[in-house]
Amino acid sequence: MSYVGPDFDPPQPRHSRRRTLTVAVAALVPGALLGWVMYEAVGGPGDGGGSGNAAVRPSSATPSSTAPTVSATNDDKPPGPTPTTESTADSTSAPAASGPLKGKVVVIDPGHNPNNFQHTAEINRKVNIGTNWKECDTTGTSTNDGYTEAKFTLDVAHRLRTLLQKQGATVKFTQDGDRSWGPCVDERAEIGNKAHADAVVSIHADGAGAGQRGFHVILPAKVNAGAANTGPIVTSSRDLGERIAGSFVRLTGSAPSNYVGDGTGLVTRKDLGGLNLSTVPKVFIECGNMRDSKDAALLTSGAWRQKAARGISEGIVSYLEE
Ligand SMILES: [Zn+2]
Repeated sequence: MSYVGPDFDPPQPRHSRRRTLTVAVAALVPGALLGWVMYEAVGGPGDGGGSGNAAVRPSSATPSSTAPTVSATNDDKPPGPTPTTESTADSTSAPAASGPLKGKVVVIDPGHNPNNFQHTAEINRKVNIGTNWKECDTTGTSTNDGYTEAKFTLDVAHRLRTLLQKQGATVKFTQDGDRSWGPCVDERAEIGNKAHADAVVSIHADGAGAGQRGFHVILPAKVNAGAANTGPIVTSSRDLGERIAGSFVRLTGSAPSNYVGDGTGLVTRKDLGGLNLSTVPKVFIECGNMRDSKDAALLTSGAWRQKAARGISEGIVSYLEE
């Protein structure tokens, strides 16, 4: 679907990137199919993804008001320094003195916010995303045992930040659980735009039906309505997205979603404010389906989350190094 989506312009081949890209895509598809077959055959350490929309819509299983009860393994603390408590919107952390990403700015958008469930009035307020009006933010989903998506996204974001900083990148967050709610989807895009980010990744996990498994990367469709004009970022965002999908398969061993993206792990959408309002290369990743027990077993594992962060990181590095 995503390669020929009706509302999507096929990417304009760019010389060297295209060759590398073809390799990446070539690596992705068979690897993914292989991964999936393996996955089905042995129920191995694969992974599942989501129906796109669930990422922004609280599933019926909105996390209970009580704090998450399950933290899977005792290694679910991301390595590296504990994030500071000061407000993180615009907060930058110390990049390594040198590295392949020296001088590059990466904005990480941990999906939802652990405090959103206490601010339903604020997050239900509508904001303009160019094509239409949409809720400011949502609570996100959770596993059947109560491990929340909002906690998952922050954990993976912290791990990813550490990996990118080690390679010299300047990393900014849209939120770090230090805001009472949100930010709204339009402000999340604005933070990346204002930072003139070289790449932005929004981290999510889905709340789809049991048995629906695999990850998927969401790419911006070409939209030009109101404040939304994604034309300038469609090709670069696809390049970023394809590389992240390729390295995510490689590093996690997970297969692309088996219910969106036709096995490609890529989906193009025009109804996400965070993408529509972006003026810099940006993708969303749905790392797995929290409502599927096999996926949940992976998503609640610190060791798997570290692999997921490495997969996203290597995709970003591959994109920025070109
Ligand atoms: Zn989400």
